[in-house]
Order: sequence, then structure tokens, then C-alpha cells
Amino acid sequence: MAIIAIINQKGGVGKTTTAINLAAQLASSKKKVLLVDLDPQANATSGLNIEKQSTTTTYEVLIGSINLSDAIKPTNLKNLDILPCNPNLTAAELDLSQRPNREYCLSNALKQDKVHDYIIIDCPPALGLLTINALTASNFLIIPVQAEYYALEGLGQLLDIVQRVREGLNPSLELLGVLITMYDRRTSLSQNVSDEVKKYFKDKVFRTVIPRNIRLAEAPSYGKTIFQHDRWSKGARAYKQFTNEVLNMGRNK
Ligand code: ATP
Ligand code: MG
Repeated sequence: MAIIAIINQKGGVGKTTTAINLAAQLASSKKKVLLVDLDPQANATSGLNIEKQSTTTTYEVLIGSINLSDAIKPTNLKNLDILPCNPNLTAAELDLSQRPNREYCLSNALKQDKVHDYIIIDCPPALGLLTINALTASNFLIIPVQAEYYALEGLGQLLDIVQRVREGLNPSLELLGVLITMYDRRTSLSQNVSDEVKKYFKDKVFRTVIPRNIRLAEAPSYGKTIFQHDRWSKGARAYKQFTNEVLNMGRNK
């Protein structure tokens, strides 16, 4: 089983869009997939049209008041389950901070899972305790980077934290790759940012680049993945190709 965190403390870079569509495409490739919503904004939950009022969410699983299997819900896609959340998850930062094993709450919960081939974690735009829990629970990281000015800002800090987690809490954590998102081929800015990212991360950049595509932005408002919303769109084709890269990396490990 592979646990992959989609992470970047910068807001609005395409984490949730990547988490939802990677999870959906892995599921349609006959993998059993669990999408964990670890962001109190609950965008992955609403993006898959799952109600947020539930009292069996990521929060209850993290504080240990219910078992993971009692909180997991099916989605309307075959092979895709979700651990949903709602804004109450904000309280977890505080509640968990008092505990001795506060960095391991998610890791311990996910160890109960024997069903899924892939667990995809949608992280919040912050480097707090929720994100540390994701880093501790994961084998792999995917960092989406928006092809915009300031894209690289903050990545040094993120990599520093990843390194510290590797040295202590989770030595087996590995960067699967950096994914360039919202690429606009009409602008030289997108090209420049992409060149910078490749110069810095070298072979750790996914070959697939996700274009800026209005269909990707529309899909969550219908509670749909891009494949349900418009499977022939540029966005759908890019996320399919990206998922194939992820699947092929799995085969080589
Ligand atoms: P946050 O940090 O707030 O959780 P995020 O990193 O999860 O944000 P998303 O929610 O995936 O980012 O994307 C931010 C916004 O950009 C959303 O409105 C989303 O629909 C839109 N978006 C994401 N990817 C694309 C794309 N490739 N083309 C056009 N719009 C996109
Ligand atoms: Mg998000």
C-alpha cells in the first residue's frame, strides 16, 4: 500500500484538485483508493459531493474517538472511498497538541486500514500539526507548484521540514515528485517558473504538466471529478497522464 500526501503550505496551488483527480483516476484503474481530507476547509469532501455535517470525520479518527473503518464513506465512484472532514477539524491542532504521540495520530489510524491500495491525503495550506501528521503517516509526497510568480517561495521551508521529519519521525518519507499546475502556455512567466522548478528539482519533476483549464475549476462546484465533468477536456487528459506516471513509479519500486 502507498500513502501519498499532496502537500504545499502555499494556498491555492492545486492540492485539492490534484488529490481528487489522482484518487479518482487511480480508482478507475482498478486500484482501491482512500482519499483522506485533512484540510478543515473540507474542499475534497465537498468536491466529491459528500455532506459535511457528519460526526464521523477525520477529526474523530485523529482524536481516537472512532475507528477509521467507521468513518470511511463510499463515494459515487467505484473503488473510491473518502475520509471526510468539516471545519471542526481546526480544533484538532489544539486538541492533539496536548498529547504525547501528537505527530503519530494519523499514522496510527491509517495503520488500521487493510483494504486500500492507495491512500491520498489532501493537506491544508499550513505547516502545522495536521501537516506534520500527514508527513509522518506517508511514504510519498507530491508537491504541486503553481506556474506563477512566487511559486518557489516557501518551498525551501517545506523541504526543511520534510528533512527534519525524515531524520526523526518518519525516515522512509520520499519525494515522489513536483507537479507543475495551472500552466499557461501563452505566457513566458509559466515557462520561466517551470524552468526554475526543473533546475531546482531536476528529475523529481513530473513530465506531465497540468494546464490552466476552466473545466478543472468548474468541476468541484458540481461535486464532480474532472472525468465526470468533462472527460475529454485538457485538464482530464493531463490528470490521466499524470496518474499513469504515478502508477508506473509504483511498478518500479
Ligand atoms: P488550498 O491551499 O486553499 O487548499 P489548493 O492548493 O487545494 O488550495 P485547489 O483548491 O486545488 O488548490 O485550487 C485552487 C483554485 O484553482 C480552485 O478554485 C480550483 O478549482 C482552481 N484550479 C485548480 N487547478 C486548476 C487548473 N489547472 N486550471 C484552472 N483552475 C484550477
Ligand atoms: Mg485544498
